Amino acid sequence: MATVETVRGAVDAGDLGTVLIHEHVRFRDEAVTTQWPTQYDGEAELAAALEAVRAAADRGVRTICDPTAMFGGRDVGFMQRVSEETGVQIVACTGIYTYDYLPHYFENRDVDAMAELFVSDIQDGMQGTEAKAAFLKCAADVPGVTPNVEKVHRAVARASRRTGAPIMAHSRPAGDTGPRQVEIFREEGVDPTRIQIAHTGDTDDLEYIERLLDTGVFIGMDRYGLEMFLPIDRRNATVAELLRRGYADRMLISQDFCATIDWFPPEAAEAFVDQGAIRDWSMTLVFDQVLPALREEGVLTDEHVETVFVENPRRWLAG
Ligand SMILES: [Zn+2]
Repeated sequence: MATVETVRGAVDAGDLGTVLIHEHVRFRDEAVTTQWPTQYDGEAELAAALEAVRAAADRGVRTICDPTAMFGGRDVGFMQRVSEETGVQIVACTGIYTYDYLPHYFENRDVDAMAELFVSDIQDGMQGTEAKAAFLKCAADVPGVTPNVEKVHRAVARASRRTGAPIMAHSRPAGDTGPRQVEIFREEGVDPTRIQIAHTGDTDDLEYIERLLDTGVFIGMDRYGLEMFLPIDRRNATVAELLRRGYADRMLISQDFCATIDWFPPEAAEAFVDQGAIRDWSMTLVFDQVLPALREEGVLTDEHVETVFVENPRRWLAG
Protein backbone atom coordinates (compact mmCIF):
# COMPACT_ATOMS: atom_id res chain seq x y z
CA MET A 1 0.00 0.00 0.00
CA ALA A 2 1.38 3.40 -0.98
CA THR A 3 1.75 5.91 1.83
CA VAL A 4 1.53 9.70 1.92
CA GLU A 5 3.43 11.89 4.35
CA THR A 6 1.43 14.23 6.57
CA VAL A 7 2.86 16.68 9.11
CA ARG A 8 2.22 14.01 11.76
CA GLY A 9 3.74 11.11 9.85
CA ALA A 10 2.94 8.78 6.97
CA VAL A 11 -0.58 7.47 6.38
CA ASP A 12 -1.88 4.86 3.96
CA ALA A 13 -2.98 6.53 0.74
CA GLY A 14 -6.32 4.76 1.24
CA ASP A 15 -6.81 6.65 4.51
CA LEU A 16 -6.68 10.16 3.01
CA GLY A 17 -10.46 10.15 2.66
CA THR A 18 -12.10 13.32 1.39
CA VAL A 19 -9.36 15.80 0.52
CA LEU A 20 -9.34 19.56 0.07
CA ILE A 21 -6.40 19.88 -2.28
CA HIS A 22 -5.56 23.56 -1.83
CA GLU A 23 -6.14 25.45 1.42
CA HIS A 24 -3.84 27.46 3.67
CA VAL A 25 -4.10 27.27 7.46
CA ARG A 26 -2.12 30.54 7.56
CA PHE A 27 -0.41 32.70 4.95
CA ARG A 28 2.07 35.40 5.95
CA ASP A 29 5.44 36.67 4.87
CA GLU A 30 8.17 35.06 6.92
CA ALA A 31 10.56 38.02 6.63
CA VAL A 32 8.00 40.55 7.90
CA THR A 33 6.91 38.06 10.57
CA THR A 34 10.47 37.68 11.82
CA GLN A 35 11.34 41.38 11.74
CA TRP A 36 8.06 42.82 13.06
CA PRO A 37 6.47 40.00 15.07
CA THR A 38 4.24 42.40 16.99
CA GLN A 39 2.22 42.90 13.79
CA TYR A 40 0.91 39.35 14.16
CA ASP A 41 -1.46 37.84 16.71
CA GLY A 42 -0.51 34.18 17.02
CA GLU A 43 -3.50 33.23 19.17
CA ALA A 44 -5.95 34.83 16.72
CA GLU A 45 -4.24 33.09 13.79
CA LEU A 46 -4.49 29.73 15.52
CA ALA A 47 -8.14 30.30 16.43
CA ALA A 48 -8.97 31.19 12.80
CA ALA A 49 -7.14 28.12 11.49
CA LEU A 50 -8.89 25.80 13.95
CA GLU A 51 -12.30 27.26 13.12
CA ALA A 52 -11.77 26.87 9.36
CA VAL A 53 -10.39 23.35 9.56
CA ARG A 54 -13.08 22.17 12.02
CA ALA A 55 -15.77 23.50 9.69
CA ALA A 56 -14.22 21.50 6.84
CA ALA A 57 -14.05 18.41 9.06
CA ASP A 58 -17.78 18.86 9.78
CA ARG A 59 -18.38 18.52 6.03
CA GLY A 60 -16.45 15.22 6.00
CA VAL A 61 -12.98 16.46 5.08
CA ARG A 62 -10.28 14.14 6.44
CA THR A 63 -7.20 15.62 4.77
CA ILE A 64 -6.09 19.09 3.71
CA CYS A 65 -3.18 19.75 1.35
CA ASP A 66 -1.60 23.02 2.43
CA PRO A 67 0.64 24.35 -0.36
CA THR A 68 2.22 27.07 1.78
CA ALA A 69 5.86 27.18 0.67
CA MET A 70 8.81 29.51 1.22
CA PHE A 71 7.60 33.17 1.24
CA GLY A 72 4.19 32.05 2.48
CA GLY A 73 5.49 31.47 5.97
CA ARG A 74 5.44 27.67 5.90
CA ASP A 75 5.53 26.57 9.54
CA VAL A 76 5.56 22.85 10.31
CA GLY A 77 4.90 23.38 14.03
CA PHE A 78 1.79 25.46 13.32
CA MET A 79 0.42 22.88 10.87
CA GLN A 80 1.11 20.08 13.37
CA ARG A 81 -0.76 21.96 16.10
CA VAL A 82 -3.77 22.53 13.84
CA SER A 83 -3.75 18.89 12.80
CA GLU A 84 -3.47 17.64 16.39
CA GLU A 85 -6.29 19.83 17.66
CA THR A 86 -8.69 19.12 14.79
CA GLY A 87 -7.82 15.53 13.91
CA VAL A 88 -7.61 16.55 10.24
CA GLN A 89 -4.55 15.27 8.38
CA ILE A 90 -2.44 18.07 6.88
CA VAL A 91 -0.17 17.39 3.91
CA ALA A 92 2.67 19.90 3.52
CA CYS A 93 4.82 20.92 0.59
CA THR A 94 8.29 22.15 -0.21
CA GLY A 95 9.17 24.74 -2.83
CA ILE A 96 9.29 28.47 -3.36
CA TYR A 97 6.27 30.70 -3.86
CA THR A 98 7.64 33.56 -5.92
CA TYR A 99 6.39 35.42 -8.99
CA ASP A 100 9.99 36.42 -9.81
CA TYR A 101 12.17 37.54 -6.88
CA LEU A 102 14.74 35.16 -5.48
CA PRO A 103 17.10 35.86 -2.57
CA HIS A 104 20.82 36.19 -3.38
CA TYR A 105 21.20 32.79 -1.71
CA PHE A 106 19.42 31.16 -4.64
CA GLU A 107 20.47 33.70 -7.28
CA ASN A 108 24.08 32.62 -6.79
CA ARG A 109 23.41 28.88 -6.62
CA ASP A 110 22.28 26.64 -9.45
CA VAL A 111 19.08 24.69 -10.09
CA ASP A 112 20.46 21.50 -8.58
CA ALA A 113 21.46 23.20 -5.32
CA MET A 114 17.87 24.41 -5.02
CA ALA A 115 16.51 20.95 -5.89
CA GLU A 116 18.75 19.43 -3.21
CA LEU A 117 16.98 21.44 -0.48
CA PHE A 118 13.57 20.36 -1.78
CA VAL A 119 14.70 16.71 -1.80
CA SER A 120 15.90 17.05 1.78
CA ASP A 121 12.47 18.35 2.88
CA ILE A 122 10.86 15.32 1.22
CA GLN A 123 13.33 12.67 2.36
CA ASP A 124 14.68 13.90 5.72
CA GLY A 125 12.07 16.31 7.07
CA MET A 126 11.27 20.02 7.12
CA GLN A 127 12.61 22.73 9.40
CA GLY A 128 14.54 20.35 11.61
CA THR A 129 11.56 18.07 12.28
CA GLU A 130 10.78 14.52 11.22
CA ALA A 131 7.76 15.79 9.28
CA LYS A 132 8.28 15.32 5.56
CA ALA A 133 6.95 17.32 2.63
CA ALA A 134 4.71 15.30 0.31
CA PHE A 135 4.60 17.51 -2.76
CA LEU A 136 6.38 20.37 -4.52
CA LYS A 137 5.16 23.91 -5.11
CA CYS A 138 6.13 26.64 -7.55
CA ALA A 139 4.35 29.60 -9.12
CA ALA A 140 4.00 31.71 -12.23
CA ASP A 141 1.86 34.84 -12.16
CA VAL A 142 1.72 38.35 -13.68
CA PRO A 143 5.42 38.60 -14.64
CA GLY A 144 5.10 35.28 -16.51
CA VAL A 145 7.70 32.53 -16.65
CA THR A 146 10.75 34.71 -15.96
CA PRO A 147 14.26 33.20 -15.75
CA ASN A 148 13.95 33.00 -11.93
CA VAL A 149 10.52 31.37 -12.15
CA GLU A 150 11.86 28.90 -14.69
CA LYS A 151 14.74 28.08 -12.34
CA VAL A 152 12.31 27.21 -9.53
CA HIS A 153 10.20 25.13 -11.93
CA ARG A 154 13.25 23.14 -13.06
CA ALA A 155 14.40 22.62 -9.46
CA VAL A 156 10.91 21.42 -8.50
CA ALA A 157 10.87 19.08 -11.52
CA ARG A 158 14.28 17.59 -10.67
CA ALA A 159 13.27 17.06 -7.03
CA SER A 160 10.09 15.38 -8.27
CA ARG A 161 12.10 13.08 -10.54
CA ARG A 162 14.42 12.13 -7.67
CA THR A 163 11.73 11.53 -5.04
CA GLY A 164 8.54 10.69 -6.91
CA ALA A 165 6.75 13.59 -5.18
CA PRO A 166 4.06 15.30 -7.27
CA ILE A 167 4.07 18.97 -8.30
CA MET A 168 1.52 21.71 -7.76
CA ALA A 169 2.14 24.77 -9.91
CA HIS A 170 0.29 28.04 -9.22
CA SER A 171 -0.65 29.39 -12.65
CA ARG A 172 -2.26 32.45 -14.19
CA PRO A 173 -4.57 31.52 -17.06
CA ALA A 174 -4.97 35.22 -17.98
CA GLY A 175 -1.24 35.22 -18.76
CA ASP A 176 -1.36 31.85 -20.52
CA THR A 177 1.31 30.50 -18.14
CA GLY A 178 -0.03 26.93 -17.80
CA PRO A 179 1.17 25.41 -21.09
CA ARG A 180 4.70 26.83 -20.65
CA GLN A 181 4.84 25.51 -17.06
CA VAL A 182 3.86 22.03 -18.25
CA GLU A 183 6.41 22.27 -21.05
CA ILE A 184 9.25 22.92 -18.58
CA PHE A 185 8.20 19.98 -16.39
CA ARG A 186 8.02 17.72 -19.46
CA GLU A 187 11.46 18.89 -20.64
CA GLU A 188 12.76 17.75 -17.24
CA GLY A 189 11.05 14.38 -17.70
CA VAL A 190 8.19 14.64 -15.20
CA ASP A 191 5.22 12.32 -15.78
CA PRO A 192 2.19 14.58 -16.51
CA THR A 193 -0.02 12.57 -14.12
CA ARG A 194 2.20 13.88 -11.29
CA ILE A 195 1.54 17.51 -12.27
CA GLN A 196 -1.31 19.71 -11.04
CA ILE A 197 -1.81 23.11 -12.65
CA ALA A 198 -3.43 25.11 -9.87
CA HIS A 199 -5.88 27.97 -10.52
CA THR A 200 -6.87 26.69 -13.96
CA GLY A 201 -10.42 27.39 -12.77
CA ASP A 202 -9.68 31.13 -12.87
CA THR A 203 -10.67 31.00 -16.54
CA ASP A 204 -13.73 29.70 -18.38
CA ASP A 205 -11.83 29.55 -21.67
CA LEU A 206 -12.45 25.90 -22.44
CA GLU A 207 -10.01 25.95 -25.34
CA TYR A 208 -7.21 26.95 -22.93
CA ILE A 209 -8.30 24.36 -20.37
CA GLU A 210 -8.49 21.53 -22.90
CA ARG A 211 -5.07 22.48 -24.21
CA LEU A 212 -3.78 21.79 -20.69
CA LEU A 213 -5.85 18.63 -20.25
CA ASP A 214 -4.48 17.30 -23.54
CA THR A 215 -1.04 17.16 -21.91
CA GLY A 216 -2.33 14.71 -19.28
CA VAL A 217 -2.06 16.89 -16.17
CA PHE A 218 -4.52 17.48 -13.33
CA ILE A 219 -6.17 20.90 -13.17
CA GLY A 220 -7.07 22.85 -10.04
CA MET A 221 -10.58 24.36 -10.01
CA ASP A 222 -9.48 25.69 -6.71
CA ARG A 223 -10.28 29.33 -6.04
CA TYR A 224 -13.99 29.24 -5.28
CA GLY A 225 -14.94 32.44 -3.49
CA LEU A 226 -12.30 34.63 -5.16
CA GLU A 227 -14.74 36.43 -7.41
CA MET A 228 -12.06 38.91 -8.51
CA PHE A 229 -10.58 36.19 -10.70
CA LEU A 230 -13.84 34.52 -11.79
CA PRO A 231 -17.32 34.53 -10.22
CA ILE A 232 -18.75 31.34 -8.77
CA ASP A 233 -21.44 30.95 -11.47
CA ARG A 234 -18.87 30.98 -14.26
CA ARG A 235 -16.62 28.61 -12.29
CA ASN A 236 -19.59 26.25 -11.91
CA ALA A 237 -20.52 26.47 -15.60
CA THR A 238 -16.95 25.54 -16.51
CA VAL A 239 -16.80 22.59 -14.11
CA ALA A 240 -20.23 21.44 -15.33
CA GLU A 241 -19.09 21.47 -18.96
CA LEU A 242 -15.86 19.63 -18.11
CA LEU A 243 -17.90 16.99 -16.26
CA ARG A 244 -20.10 16.64 -19.37
CA ARG A 245 -16.98 16.22 -21.48
CA GLY A 246 -15.77 13.42 -19.20
CA TYR A 247 -12.94 15.10 -17.31
CA ALA A 248 -14.03 14.25 -13.74
CA ASP A 249 -10.88 12.19 -13.27
CA ARG A 250 -8.61 15.18 -13.97
CA MET A 251 -10.16 17.90 -11.80
CA LEU A 252 -9.38 18.96 -8.25
CA ILE A 253 -11.86 21.29 -6.53
CA SER A 254 -10.89 23.57 -3.65
CA GLN A 255 -11.02 27.18 -2.41
CA ASP A 256 -7.42 28.36 -1.86
CA PHE A 257 -8.82 29.72 1.39
CA CYS A 258 -6.36 31.32 3.79
CA ALA A 259 -7.56 31.12 7.40
CA THR A 260 -5.51 34.29 7.84
CA ILE A 261 -3.44 36.20 5.29
CA ASP A 262 -1.27 39.30 5.79
CA TRP A 263 -1.35 40.68 2.22
CA PHE A 264 -3.80 43.49 2.96
CA PRO A 265 -4.62 45.75 5.89
CA PRO A 266 -7.95 44.77 7.51
CA GLU A 267 -9.89 47.66 5.93
CA ALA A 268 -8.82 46.61 2.42
CA ALA A 269 -9.84 43.02 3.11
CA GLU A 270 -13.26 44.27 4.25
CA ALA A 271 -13.56 46.38 1.10
CA PHE A 272 -13.00 43.28 -1.06
CA VAL A 273 -15.97 41.66 0.64
CA ASP A 274 -18.10 44.83 0.39
CA GLN A 275 -17.32 45.17 -3.31
CA GLY A 276 -18.02 41.49 -4.01
CA ALA A 277 -14.45 40.72 -5.06
CA ILE A 278 -14.49 38.02 -2.40
CA ARG A 279 -17.75 36.22 -1.69
CA ASP A 280 -18.41 33.52 0.94
CA TRP A 281 -14.74 32.50 0.76
CA SER A 282 -14.15 29.71 3.29
CA MET A 283 -12.98 26.11 3.64
CA THR A 284 -16.57 24.92 3.18
CA LEU A 285 -17.90 26.94 0.23
CA VAL A 286 -17.58 24.07 -2.23
CA PHE A 287 -19.64 21.80 0.04
CA ASP A 288 -22.19 24.46 0.99
CA GLN A 289 -22.83 26.00 -2.43
CA VAL A 290 -20.86 24.49 -5.30
CA LEU A 291 -21.73 20.80 -5.05
CA PRO A 292 -25.44 21.50 -4.37
CA ALA A 293 -25.59 23.80 -7.42
CA LEU A 294 -23.89 21.25 -9.67
CA ARG A 295 -26.19 18.49 -8.40
CA GLU A 296 -29.21 20.67 -9.05
CA GLU A 297 -28.04 21.17 -12.60
CA GLY A 298 -27.97 17.39 -12.94
CA VAL A 299 -24.32 17.15 -13.97
CA LEU A 300 -22.79 15.94 -10.70
CA THR A 301 -23.16 12.39 -9.36
CA ASP A 302 -21.98 10.79 -6.09
CA GLU A 303 -19.42 8.95 -8.19
CA HIS A 304 -18.03 12.28 -9.48
CA VAL A 305 -17.69 13.57 -5.91
CA GLU A 306 -15.78 10.44 -4.92
CA THR A 307 -13.55 10.83 -8.00
CA VAL A 308 -12.80 14.53 -7.47
CA PHE A 309 -12.36 14.62 -3.69
CA VAL A 310 -11.02 11.12 -2.90
CA GLU A 311 -9.57 9.33 -5.91
CA ASN A 312 -7.92 12.22 -7.77
CA PRO A 313 -6.06 13.54 -4.71
CA ARG A 314 -4.94 10.02 -3.89
CA ARG A 315 -3.74 9.36 -7.44
CA TRP A 316 -1.94 12.73 -7.62
CA LEU A 317 -0.27 12.31 -4.22
CA ALA A 318 0.51 8.60 -4.26
CA GLY A 319 0.85 7.88 -7.97
ZN1 LIG B 1 -2.74 28.88 -2.61
